[in-house]
Amino acid sequence: MTSIMPVDIVKAGHPVLRQRAQPVSPELRSSATFHELIEIMKLTLEGRGVGLAAPQIGVSLRVFVMKDPKERVEMDREAAIKERSAIPFEVVINPAWRPVGDEKVTFPEGCLSIPVLTAAVPRYRTIEAEWTTPDGALRKETLVGWPARIFQHEYDHLEGTLYTDYLPGHPEISYAEPGQGVSDELLGRLGL
Ligand SMILES: [Zn+2]
Repeated sequence: MTSIMPVDIVKAGHPVLRQRAQPVSPELRSSATFHELIEIMKLTLEGRGVGLAAPQIGVSLRVFVMKDPKERVEMDREAAIKERSAIPFEVVINPAWRPVGDEKVTFPEGCLSIPVLTAAVPRYRTIEAEWTTPDGALRKETLVGWPARIFQHEYDHLEGTLYTDYLPGHPEISYAEPGQGVSDELLGRLGL
C-alpha cells in the first residue's frame, strides 16, 4: 500500500497555475491513482485553508476540494457579514457555474499559492454550480456568500486565473521558489 502524504503547494510563478487544466475522464475518475490524488489533496488542505485546486499541487486536472469546518467559521468574527457557513469536505470534479443575478460582493480573500497576502476581490454573491462527484453522480447546488466565493476562486485555478487578475493593474506576483507539488512519478500515473 502506498503511503499517502501531504505535498507542497506550488506558489505563484509556477507555470501550472497559468494553464487551463484538463477535464477528468470517467476512466481516470474511477482509477485508484485518482483516488490517491484526492487523498493527497484532502491531507494537503487539512488545517491550511478552505479550498485547494489540483493545479496548486502541480496537477493540471479539473478538480478541487473544499471544506470550511464549523470551528473555523465560528472563529471568524465577520462570518455573518460574509455569509460564511460551514461546508463539509467536498470533491468537485469538472465543475461549471453561472451567476444568479449580477450582484457582486467584495471581501478580502487569500490563496494558498500566494502566501501571507490578502486582497479585496469582488465575486458574485449567488451562483448555480454543478459538478461530478468521485462516484460519478452529477451534483447541482445554489451557493450564496462565502461558499460561492470559494467555488469561484477554486474554479478560477482550473482556468489559470489568480485573484490578482481582478486587482487594478493585474499585478503578476512571482515567488522565487514556486515549489514542485506532487512527484513526477504520480504525474506520470495520472497521464500528465
Ligand atoms: Zn487559490
